[in-house]
Amino acid sequence: MSDHKKLYDQVFDLLEKHDNWMSKTINLIASENISSPAVRSAIVSDFRDRYAEGWPGERVYAGCVYIDEVEKICIDLAQKLFKAEFADVRPISGVVANLMMYTAFMKPMDRMMAMAIAHGGHISHARRSIGGTAGAVRGHKVRTWDFDEEEFNIDVDASKKQIRGLYEDGKDVEFLLFGGSVFPFPHPVEEFVDIAQEYDMKIGYDSAHVSGLIAAGKFQDPLREGADIMTASTHKTMPGPQHGIVLSKKEYAEEIKRAAFPGLMSNHHLHNVAGLAVVLAELQEFGEAYMTQILKNAKALAQALHERGWGVIAEHKGFTESHQVLVDVSGTPMKNGRKVEEELEKANIVINRNLLPWDKKMGRDYIKPGGIRLGSSEMTRLGMKESEMDTIAEFMHRVVVKGEDVKKIAAEVETFREDYQKVHYAFDTETDAYKHLRFM
Ligand SMILES: *Cc1c(COP(=O)(O)O)cnc(C)c1O
Repeated sequence: MSDHKKLYDQVFDLLEKHDNWMSKTINLIASENISSPAVRSAIVSDFRDRYAEGWPGERVYAGCVYIDEVEKICIDLAQKLFKAEFADVRPISGVVANLMMYTAFMKPMDRMMAMAIAHGGHISHARRSIGGTAGAVRGHKVRTWDFDEEEFNIDVDASKKQIRGLYEDGKDVEFLLFGGSVFPFPHPVEEFVDIAQEYDMKIGYDSAHVSGLIAAGKFQDPLREGADIMTASTHKTMPGPQHGIVLSKKEYAEEIKRAAFPGLMSNHHLHNVAGLAVVLAELQEFGEAYMTQILKNAKALAQALHERGWGVIAEHKGFTESHQVLVDVSGTPMKNGRKVEEELEKANIVINRNLLPWDKKMGRDYIKPGGIRLGSSEMTRLGMKESEMDTIAEFMHRVVVKGEDVKKIAAEVETFREDYQKVHYAFDTETDAYKHLRFM
């Protein structure tokens, strides 16, 4: 057999191993979810090989007869679900959606406010010195929101004072960006509407993590609270294909469309637009029930870990109002998030380590941070409820605190997972969620 054929076969072998492994794990990665077999069917259609530059009906390519119809359905569903006057479903990811937002609302070098990484900000909001998208790609000067560690949220008064101080120094701020990757509590968008009007600043909201919750009316409603534009990833609390979306008031439509094409994209991954249309329809029908359970499960998981002595953040605020649970693991025998992540993975429990706001002060960094971030979206989609969250917390406790044999727990996790193999909150709930598919 040729070397190339061996590698070719090896890829398929690895894909099958991965699919089988995922069907046996407890996945608590907050930025992930499981798309339905219906979404998977849409994204393997012939759309994956096509181009359709431009807007439906005004394409630069031929062959878009059916593609246009699907994209129009997708736009309609998105506008309805998010109660938005305008939706652009072309961004191929959340980062590209953010670049569309920056391009439509700011000139290169303009100054913006955003969350610091240590406080839960995303690298696409960050400054050039750390390689962040806003700074490195667009040249934006980024100032970070003042943060209240106790409330685990943006400090409104201190941040307003910071903005006024910048203006006094002759440093204009053009854009206020809310949203982040560690996002347990809604951001105070409404509280900044007055100062935004006073200084003619526009307001953006990155809902990458919480877009599913927002669509179901379960977190906050940025477009009603004063945001001019909202961006999202479609695969975190939304169980969609990996894609992005931009939502806004009608008055910004032309600027946003131009930012997408010819600005940032030629191909916009039409198969994922089809998949997005499917998940938007699923969310119209089942989103309310699904998101309600995601929230209940996140609180239950937080409570279950807290009862076992874990340092879950924001106890006085009920731990979380989103799908996320942030835990300070520096007091566990494993001492840091990295060790916890590694050991849990061996036990078939997939989580990620995370920087805590106070890590820097304690001499910790992102390689060995003090925290872990957990999310309830994927396990909820498989039909798990509050009691299963308690079971999961106990598995974690046995690995991280009691130091039990990870191999033994891995086998128990595999058995536990046998009962949760179908996607819930979907029109089709018969097909195995992690079924390995091959066409030949
Ligand atoms: C995940 C995330 C993104 C990036 O989304 P991709 O779809 O992975 O490009 C952007 N912003 C925030 C706040 C995120 O958490």
